[in-house]
Amino acid sequence: MPIKQVLTALDEQEIKLGTPSAAPDFFALPPFPPRKLQHGGLTFHVEVLEQPRSSNDEKCYGTCDFNKRIIELEGNRPSDAEATTLLHELLHVLFSKAGDCKPQDEEQVVRMMAAGIMDWFLQNPSLINYLSAVVRYCSNEPTTNKENHQ
Ligand SMILES: [Zn+2]
Repeated sequence: MPIKQVLTALDEQEIKLGTPSAAPDFFALPPFPPRKLQHGGLTFHVEVLEQPRSSNDEKCYGTCDFNKRIIELEGNRPSDAEATTLLHELLHVLFSKAGDCKPQDEEQVVRMMAAGIMDWFLQNPSLINYLSAVVRYCSNEPTTNKENHQ
């Protein structure tokens, strides 16, 4: 269907682009992760690879280069799997600064935590809405002491 007809159809149904929850499923595009993430005064760049990275037999869906601060995610995967991989890499970032708290079995801990956190969100969409509201509220709160919000 030509894009003009799609836009007209959307307009007739009063569907606004950029509001995926209001759009029928066939118009919804998979979410794309943020290209930049800030943490601890550092900027991490997120890149989604078109081609799978197959360096060895072990399947690797994501990597994080701490020095370059680049997180790479394998593309063409289900959105929940991609998001879980992003959480996985973010947890590695946290553990990279954990010092003595860093577990010896970090990979297993990170796998379990990323899958578990994603499962909390998938089973409880209201939880992510609450967290989003907290973030919006705190970022607009003039007296917020960021160090007490951890
Ligand atoms: Zn890992």
